[in-house]
Amino acid sequence: MKYPAVQNYVGGRFVIGGASFLDVHNPGDGSVISRVPLSSGQEVDAAVIAAKAAFPAWSALPIKERVQVFYRYRALLERDIESLTALVSEENGKVYTEARAEILKSMELTEFACSLPQITAGEVLEVSRGVECRIERFPLGVVASITPFNFPNMVPNWTIPNAIALGNCLILKPSELVPLSSSRIADLLREAGLPDGVLQVVHGGKDVVEAICDHPGIEAVSFVGSTRVAKIVYRRATATLKRVLALGGAKNHLIVMPDADLEMTSSNVVASMTGCAGQRCMAASVMVAVSDTDHIIDRMIHYAKMIVPGENLGPVISAEARDRIERYITEAEAAGARVLVDGRKTVVKGRERGYYVGPTIIDHVTPDMKIAQEEVFGPVLAIIRSKDLDAAMAVENASPYGNAASVFTESGGTARYVMEHASAGMIGVNVGVPVPREPFSFGGWNESRFGVGDITGRGSIEFWTQSKKMTTKWNREHGTNWMS
Ligand code: NAD
Repeated sequence: MKYPAVQNYVGGRFVIGGASFLDVHNPGDGSVISRVPLSSGQEVDAAVIAAKAAFPAWSALPIKERVQVFYRYRALLERDIESLTALVSEENGKVYTEARAEILKSMELTEFACSLPQITAGEVLEVSRGVECRIERFPLGVVASITPFNFPNMVPNWTIPNAIALGNCLILKPSELVPLSSSRIADLLREAGLPDGVLQVVHGGKDVVEAICDHPGIEAVSFVGSTRVAKIVYRRATATLKRVLALGGAKNHLIVMPDADLEMTSSNVVASMTGCAGQRCMAASVMVAVSDTDHIIDRMIHYAKMIVPGENLGPVISAEARDRIERYITEAEAAGARVLVDGRKTVVKGRERGYYVGPTIIDHVTPDMKIAQEEVFGPVLAIIRSKDLDAAMAVENASPYGNAASVFTESGGTARYVMEHASAGMIGVNVGVPVPREPFSFGGWNESRFGVGDITGRGSIEFWTQSKKMTTKWNREHGTNWMS
């Protein structure tokens, strides 16, 4: 094994945890690179105790002092960008440029956390003679963040900098498929001067998540992952009266109009469906081709064929994921769809044991097919033909998900119509992956998000804090008005 077994991080120390272990694979070649402990409720207890012990001192620091840690952390992310990139690539499989972009995004998220003192400055007003109302924000206490496999560095950084800068102590439960990056995050934060106990990392799967949901010492839980598990976490953690924000899966539609710019549209659609091997909750999954768009589809085939698995396309996360994705393609074909570009049975020379699926474009998919309805999470695009914009919007809005939707058009009126009427939390116009950048918040609608608010940017401030409304009177007047 290239790396020693992963350890939990509790009270500022790496500690052995878990009664059993899972192998961690490099999806690029199938090799075992480490082992991850499957912790239990006991390890969650220990993490909560450490976090509770750290909370009084950490939350008592003025926010301007707390964010100093994150200025240093940001510099350390930049210093170590090459090794952090390599680690993401190794445990998740993404190619170098994608893994590097993930670290750059972590830096941007940290920059936002550094700006929190400016953004969270309170409100104050003399509401009647000598009487002042003010609002101040306070942290919640011990909070938890549960993350998925597809962004081992970035998604933990969606929550860690903001939640901690706002004064909370946080327990991270990373995906057991990609546990290594979170140890580096803990290490860098320690080097940046984060006091012991402010961040804990507890590894494992379902048992740890359930223990987090049930634990009476945890005030709030954020979750990012599939809709199936988001629902479990939302129900279970709200049952113990916690504040919960659970982001789920996605089925993103790109509506392509016949007037769309040929090169920009065809290259962006292909980049959206294949980037990170299609394992992005913002990836294009269905293209709704309106009217005569054959010329765009032909050009997409050209761009898809320029993608070389193993060079500019990474593997998917596991053999099971590869088999599942291939099944979707085969079932769609059997149901009458036409496979224009076929990524099944992709083998990369020298990495024959890696879990590769090549870019796949399937035309003449109908809305009733499984591939049109379910999240595939691979480099696969289903094309549904549609006679006009209204029919295309009906396809988009029938999806139970609602993470992202995009339209490609040169018409402002069409773009505005989609912006207003698409039932999704993040909308793109001529943008294939409409991820908002800081300070704009990230979050979907419908079954892509349970709970209120967004997970990053300004939206996250409300989630990680509670406001206190204070009314004071220091002048000596009395009996002069109804507030005296
Ligand atoms: P997942 O739901 O399988 O796992 C997410 C987390 O839940 C992991 O930490 C895992 O250990 C835990 N978990 C798994 N099964 C569990 C169970 N039965 N009970 C309790 N906890 C459990 O998701 P994944 O496969 O790691 O990630 C891919 C999914 O995440 C996709 O659906 C993708 O769309 C979604 N995702 C969504 C967003 C978003 O912002 N909406 C962002 C990234 C990924």
